[in-house]
Amino acid sequence: SYRKGGYHAVRIGDSFSSGRYIAQQKLGWGQFSTVWLAYDTQSSKYVALKIQKSAPQFAQAALHEIEILSAISNGDLSNAKCVVCLIDHFKHAGPNGQHLCMVLEFLGDSLLRLIKYNRYKGLELNRVREICRCILTALNYLHSQLGIIHTDLKPENILLCSTINPSKDPIRSAMSPVLERPEGNPNGGVTMNRIEKKLKQKARRAVARISERRASMGGGGVVPPKPARCLNGIDLKCKVVDFGNACWANKPIADEIQTRQYRAPEVIIQSGYSFPADMWSFGCTAFELATGEMMFTPKSGQGFSEDEDHLALMMELLGKIPRKVATGGARSKDYFDRYGDLKRIRRLKHGSLGRALTDKYKFSEADAREFAEFLQPILDFDPEKRPSAEQCLQHPWLNANRNEGHANGNVGEDANVVVSGGGGGGGMSHPQLK
Ligand code: ATP
Ligand code: MG
Ligand code: MG
Repeated sequence: SYRKGGYHAVRIGDSFSSGRYIAQQKLGWGQFSTVWLAYDTQSSKYVALKIQKSAPQFAQAALHEIEILSAISNGDLSNAKCVVCLIDHFKHAGPNGQHLCMVLEFLGDSLLRLIKYNRYKGLELNRVREICRCILTALNYLHSQLGIIHTDLKPENILLCSTINPSKDPIRSAMSPVLERPEGNPNGGVTMNRIEKKLKQKARRAVARISERRASMGGGGVVPPKPARCLNGIDLKCKVVDFGNACWANKPIADEIQTRQYRAPEVIIQSGYSFPADMWSFGCTAFELATGEMMFTPKSGQGFSEDEDHLALMMELLGKIPRKVATGGARSKDYFDRYGDLKRIRRLKHGSLGRALTDKYKFSEADAREFAEFLQPILDFDPEKRPSAEQCLQHPWLNANRNEGHANGNVGEDANVVVSGGGGGGGMSHPQLK
């Protein structure tokens, strides 16, 4: 894709916007862009530089993303709403064309990486609460203050706040406390971004050079401070990113939104969507953080589609879809008969959220009951009955921080075994799947 209309090729040290930003290292890429760690010589901070492909449809998409990101940043001048901040944007001319560039605050690893580092076992519930508070703060801001639907909320699109930038001194900030594996291997850095690791190594070498020089001059050596070993006292702040698919609630973009596993039932049956669709994705994300597994992983099978499997999995975990809701969408007739029963998947294994949490994910009775009480209303099939982000923020579960450690005990598990995240999802599967 490094051709006319495609990505812009970047070499480390390249400068952008009349020399203001210096490219340091590639952070990632997507269908539309490459994203680079860059040094902002004006603010002396690291930033993420997103360089869009140049063809007109990509430029158009970037303009839309910039419009949304600008509204987000203009409404949140103190940068406290748990959404990524747009710092700047400009055009960059290269051999493949004109590229729109977005300068974003530099963030760390995604929650998906955090789940992987935790070997798909689920995070400690106190951490889940902390992350949920951030996501809900972001959603409340987007929904009630701006009228924006994210439409693609999922762990991959939520990034942990980086520990690099708080101090402007590159050596001191690179040595700032680092999140580590909560239990088990004390040497295993968890959420530290690869980039942070490299910068830290660089900083260590710099410190070592200074020490050597001082020592050779007869002075004492500089001892670099050790990074903190545990999470205590470090809050797990994160921010919502990727507004390429976001839309204004009064101008819906597409009929089909959201990544499959996080897709709300009203999107599948096409009965119209709004803010509650984000709340559904939030519920699926919270479940995944706490259990380490996706809530729903639908697959097509003999005689039924992925959509039908998805609806069946939802009903097995959350109960029957009320007839009025099931039959109220443009696509309802494709899936349901007039009684609101699935046409092609007839026998469902009915379970419950609480039972899945205790039986499959080994939550204690109390943890399972309290978490299910929080989650169940968010996963109401009727979007109008789902609580808003603002209402969720008031829920006692979010404020019930406990002292004890891991809620879903990993007793007896081999610490080196990576537990696979696959499977039917949610703990049950209807017989037709097997
Ligand atoms: P997609 O195909 O997902 O829409 P995209 O081209 O719109 O991709 P993004 O998803 O915005 O690009 O970014 C690509 C990757 O760059 C992300 O997955 C992430 O790894 C990294 N990234 C994006 N924004 C930041 C940021 N602010 N700080 C650090 N890394 C980032
Ligand atoms: Mg993305
Ligand atoms: Mg995107």
